[in-house]
Amino acid sequence: MVGGSGGFWVRGKLHRYGISIFAEMTRLARSVGAVNLAQGFPDFGPPLLLIEEVKRAFRDPLMNQYAPMVGVPALQEAIARLIGETLGIQVDPLRRVTVTAGATQAIYTCLATWVEKGGEVVVFEPAYDSYVPGVEVQGGRVRCVPLVAPGWEPDWNRLEDVLSEKTVCIIVNTPHNPTTVVWRREWWDRLAELAQRRAPRAIVISDEVYAWLVFRPFRHVSALHHAYWGSRSLSCFSFGKLFHATGWKLGFVVSLSSGLMEEFRKVHQFVVFSANAPLQYALARYLDRGEGLAEVRGLSDAFRSRLDVFLKSVSSVPLVWRQPEGTYFILADYGGVLDGEDRLVAEELTRSAGVAAIPLSPFYVEAPSGLRYLRFCFAKRSETLEEAGRRLRAYFDGLGGRKS
Ligand code: PMP
Ligand code: GLN
Repeated sequence: MVGGSGGFWVRGKLHRYGISIFAEMTRLARSVGAVNLAQGFPDFGPPLLLIEEVKRAFRDPLMNQYAPMVGVPALQEAIARLIGETLGIQVDPLRRVTVTAGATQAIYTCLATWVEKGGEVVVFEPAYDSYVPGVEVQGGRVRCVPLVAPGWEPDWNRLEDVLSEKTVCIIVNTPHNPTTVVWRREWWDRLAELAQRRAPRAIVISDEVYAWLVFRPFRHVSALHHAYWGSRSLSCFSFGKLFHATGWKLGFVVSLSSGLMEEFRKVHQFVVFSANAPLQYALARYLDRGEGLAEVRGLSDAFRSRLDVFLKSVSSVPLVWRQPEGTYFILADYGGVLDGEDRLVAEELTRSAGVAAIPLSPFYVEAPSGLRYLRFCFAKRSETLEEAGRRLRAYFDGLGGRKS
């Protein structure tokens, strides 16, 4: 077969997919010189002390060789202490924590471990972009359940309809990208009650990469906290989010079930074998120091301040800004001032206002009509947020109340 580039080509399992909306908007932002509040990454770096630890690790020959398959023991222990002290979850570090090449790999490996051909996976929409293709690659069947705006609570009737003996996994993401909603304890209870009755084999894959980015009065409720799900789930976390290093692609999985963790590791060892070693040694040392824990404890306040800078700079912009519950994103409803599909509006804003954001429709298999939200990332320096605010004000002032 001959593909688009003219060379030999055989159709792959995901041939229907193009590049992700995050890559697409970042490319557009770069090409037109827009402030990039689209793809979620900070424009500031990791703490300096952590960088010092990274340099030390890179200088040590043995720290540059394969790490143990499940992770460097000192890091497993540091992770167990971190989640013990900040989330109140006690785990045996060596048996129940596995270091991964980021949360995406952790989630993919969970799917590869449990989803067989025809196995069903519940995905709440809007959904982070890797979930659906991750299921499809395994030959599984995605069963979508909407989160209903504006509170983004799951559609429980639909959930009841899709759960069955065939359900192998339910993917939950809290705090949620892109809506920012934080799962309530009652939602976990309701999910458990429905699953116990209709899908007793189901396990939860809980994507908790923003666990430490939750804003008062909301609190992070992990699958690991829950009486039913605690023993039937794996929670996935990301150092990229914890220490402003999305490019490191390092994360970890925690499960209170050693049986589930053992099965996960059997696949993990053949997907990556082990994750980046020097970064693991550096993170272990950094977390062992008081500063590491202090940084994590301060994350929510630090990001709250960034959000405040952004909200102040866009206070006169006539979009309806939805207070985030968690994550480093904020949704804006543009329905009152702009017309058109969200993808086109996002492109127009990037080209004409010089600020890039992410439309919500790519987070759906079939987007509902009339979606009028854009997602902005506020994990940026004050200068960046203020510049974005200036550009948005100038653009909307220029429209002068006209709907464009
Ligand atoms: N899950 C969610 C909800 C995310 O927003 C992201 C992206 N940052 C990831 C997973 C991926 O995390 P990682 O970069 O560690 O693979
Ligand atoms: N998680 C990031 C976001 O939601 C993007 C990660 C990626 O580009 N794949 O923007």
